[in-house]
Parts: sequence; C-alpha cells; structure tokens
Amino acid sequence: MRAVQCSFCGTAAFYRREYEGVSLCQKCFKRSIEDKVRVTISEHKMFGPRDHIAVAVSGGKDSLSLLSILSKLKTKFPLSKLTAITIDEGIQGYGDEAISLAKAMAESLNIEHRIFSFRELFQVTLDEIVKRQTKLAPCSYCGVLRRRALEKAARTIGAGKIASGHNLDDEVQTALLNILHGGVERLARTGPVLVDPEQRFIPRVKPLCGLYEREIALYGYLTGIEFQRIPCPHRNRALRNDVRDVLNALEEKHPGLKHTAYSSKLKLGDLLGDRKIRLNSCKICGEWTGRDLCEVCKILVQNQKLECLTREA
Ligand code: SF4
Ligand SMILES: [Zn+2]
Ligand SMILES: [Zn+2]
Repeated sequence: MRAVQCSFCGTAAFYRREYEGVSLCQKCFKRSIEDKVRVTISEHKMFGPRDHIAVAVSGGKDSLSLLSILSKLKTKFPLSKLTAITIDEGIQGYGDEAISLAKAMAESLNIEHRIFSFRELFQVTLDEIVKRQTKLAPCSYCGVLRRRALEKAARTIGAGKIASGHNLDDEVQTALLNILHGGVERLARTGPVLVDPEQRFIPRVKPLCGLYEREIALYGYLTGIEFQRIPCPHRNRALRNDVRDVLNALEEKHPGLKHTAYSSKLKLGDLLGDRKIRLNSCKICGEWTGRDLCEVCKILVQNQKLECLTREA
C-alpha cells in the first residue's frame, strides 16, 4: 500500500488534519503551526514592529511553544523586544520545575527571563491562601492574582503588551463555561485581543487562539520542547474537564467544530461589546474595578482576617 503523501511537498505524511482535509509531513506540520500563529497575529493586529512584549511563560507546552514561535517571528521585527515572565504562585512541589523549564527555554532563545512571585507582590502564597480560604476553587483565587501579577510584572519591565499561550481549546471551553455559569457578559472580555480604550490596563493578546491543544503538544514534541509534566496539586477542574471531553468528542465526529464554536463566541462578544462597565479605583490598592474593592484586595483582606483569627485561636 502506498504511504499517504504530504499534501504540500509530496513526502511521507505523518499527520492528518481532518478539519482542513490535508495530510502533513513533519516539516510542513511545524511550518503550518508557525504560519497559523503569524496569520492570527496579523489578522488581529496583535503587535507593532517596536512592541516590547511580556510573554507569560508558565512552563507548560502552550506558553513554551508560544515563546519559541514568537522568538522565530521576532527575527523579522528587529526593533521589537520579548521578555519572558514567569509568575511563581508559591505552590509547593510544582513551581520549581515550571520556573526552571521557563528559564532554560528563555536562555536557549537568548531572551531575558524575569520571575515575579505572589509572595513578593502580595505578601502571601497561593498555598497559604487556599489553606485558609475554601469558598472558591483554588484556580479562581490563582486566576485573579495571576492576572494582577502579570499586569504588575509587565508595568515593572516597561512592556506594552502581554502575550499568553491560551489555545483554541482553552478559549472554547472558557466560553462554554461562562455560559454554563451564567457569566455570558464575560464573552465580551475574553477575545484574542483585549485592549482598554482608556489605557488603564496593558493590552493582552493570545497568538495561539487559533491552534488546537493537541497540535501545540505535537509541535512541542517535534521541536523538542521540554514542558512541565507534574500536575498542579490544586488542579480540580471537574466541570472544565467534562466540557473538554464533550468538545473533543464533538470535534472527533465533526472536524472543525471548535473553530466554528470559537467564531460564534467572537461574534457574540462583538454583539455584547458595547456594554461598558463603569470602573472606579479600588479603595485599597487604587487599581480599576467595577466595585469598591477589587477582586485581589477582597482575597487579600479576607486572607488577613483569617490569618488573625488563626493566630488568636
Ligand atoms: S491549576 Fe489552578 S491553582 Fe494550579 S496553577 Fe493552574 S490556575 Fe493556579
Ligand atoms: Zn510536507
Ligand atoms: Zn484593590
């Protein structure tokens, strides 16, 4: 039987991309992934030629692949600058591996790497918070603090953009979770590019938003990227895992479905886009928030209260 040929160069194919109806050899697969990122960046006008970009690198396959691809694309934009940022949440037995992988990757690409910790920024670690606060899932506390940590980190290094490694699967799962949790208005605040017209926040971009998670993993494997394998001990994303399974099963039967779901999410976001939320400055930290206290300060205040109660007991 004749081996399946790459649809682009005619050599032996190793991967079938059902949603495009093409077969790819390893070389054309890698190039296609880098091309897709380039197209996403240009379609959404994510970067300018002189941008200083803070790349959020967690040590996972997505963010390490993002750093590697952006460093290749940067050769065409010599006046731009990349800085890799890793946030150390203070999770015992997890953070060290992530930091060393991020550091090694940045070093190999000759990119400056900076580490910012919850301890240094908020005087508390995630482990300490989740020991005291159990109202929400650990990932909810982590997400709020990490967003602020990235914003502070980017301001500190003088970056004008924050790039993160969110992929197509993440984006579609999050959209569906927002709907399931009743937070449909969030669809307007989770696009591939988030820019605050009043410039209170540093713009955030997601150059991998058009890529399937499994294709990024394959890209990482083919390019020899070593990524974190230890799971976070706080990871308990029961509903997200169910949503992921459902979406994967649908994609298997109907190739391309995640792409159409994502474009529907973007259209819905546009329709909701005009609903502006009035922001005030937080009474404690001065950052912008829709309420009196920002989410970060709420977590930190609650943490201090619980810490005092523990001491008194
Ligand atoms: S799994 Fe949750 S708690 Fe752990 S690093 Fe990720 S967001 Fe944070
Ligand atoms: Zn080929
Ligand atoms: Zn605050």
